[in-house]
Amino acid sequence: MSFSLNDFYRPGGTRFRLYAQSPVLPDFSEPEIVWVSSPAGSLGPGPSDFRMFAVQPIDKKPYGDDAQSPYRGPREAPAMPGHGGHFDHIAPGDPAYPCVHMFGSVRRVLDVWETYLGGPVHWHFNITHPRLELIAHVPWDNAHFGWGFMECGEGADDKGVQRPFALNFDILAHETGHGMIFSIVGMPTPETLTTSYRGFHESASDCVAMISALHFDRFVDHVLRVCQGNLYVENEMNRIGELSKTRQIRKASNALKLSDVISVDTPSKDVTGKQVHQLGQPHTGAIFDIMVEFYLDRLVSSRVVSREMADHQREAARQGRADKADCGRFADAFAREPEVFRHALCDARDMLGLRLAETWRRLTPHDFVFGKEIATLLKVDAELSGNRHRQMILDCFEWREISISLSR
Ligand SMILES: [Zn+2]
Repeated sequence: MSFSLNDFYRPGGTRFRLYAQSPVLPDFSEPEIVWVSSPAGSLGPGPSDFRMFAVQPIDKKPYGDDAQSPYRGPREAPAMPGHGGHFDHIAPGDPAYPCVHMFGSVRRVLDVWETYLGGPVHWHFNITHPRLELIAHVPWDNAHFGWGFMECGEGADDKGVQRPFALNFDILAHETGHGMIFSIVGMPTPETLTTSYRGFHESASDCVAMISALHFDRFVDHVLRVCQGNLYVENEMNRIGELSKTRQIRKASNALKLSDVISVDTPSKDVTGKQVHQLGQPHTGAIFDIMVEFYLDRLVSSRVVSREMADHQREAARQGRADKADCGRFADAFAREPEVFRHALCDARDMLGLRLAETWRRLTPHDFVFGKEIATLLKVDAELSGNRHRQMILDCFEWREISISLSR
């Protein structure tokens, strides 16, 4: 049921070397070869194409109120395509690599979601900016997506070494997620912007990052090996935007409920960026739980895990003790049938990705409430697989105290 983007695009696409996760992590210190959908030979210097272009400015401040994309100042020499139009000849250490990694990663994320959507994402800013500008580095401890651009700074790892965000796939995918949600769901007006929509935006962008990373073969293998098939156990998949082995920007498998974060009734103009990120966390947790349920369902259907084992692990996770629970039987099953677990995870990834993409396509950004989103997700899921998952989805949101009311 699941699909491989590398298999899709190996015959005619363009090769890049991408890090599946931050290169700070030992298992991801080397980038892997990835094929993206751009036809071989179609990409220009930068890299660039008709939808986006990468730039490494010299001495540029982050975009703010006083400066708008595109950047017109001095810049480093662009990355040039190699033999056959590929970019995998540009490796870490080459000054042009951050531009190549940023372009390839954003293209890869678009490939993932355009497959789920069944067509291209049209940038919401294309009325004034036909192409997305990718700024690989500015001296700043953040990254952001704005009108016509995405721009990366850097963050310190455990040892205080500054690591460029342009080499962090999670961060690039999260920012691409913001651009996609604005383009697919839309831009509210100041009058119709709700606090819930801001929280949803952050959560959806984290989900984009998590599902996109699961399209790297090495990442899927790593996640399953580390948790021995039990996704509730701490692993790279549920840590988003990792800066080191112990620090990440957010966790998908968190235990937060809506009552732990700022009220959705707070006026959107009064909510800080940090509060918005926290508000997205229970929602991300619910979506993560749904994916794990899809995964467990596939494992139980394949008879490698019993229903009772799946129920036991779920209960342990909800009590916040997944790490301490008896994982032995899961580990034994994984050791016997690793390929079945791999297929189950890829199936769960694509089941969730397909449902989220179709849900986003049907949502409006105006007067957004979580209840409307959940109702839409339930409708999409029912169209794809009947009522089989309905109660499970409702339970995942209910446990997070996320209301299914259509008015809040
Ligand atoms: Zn964000």
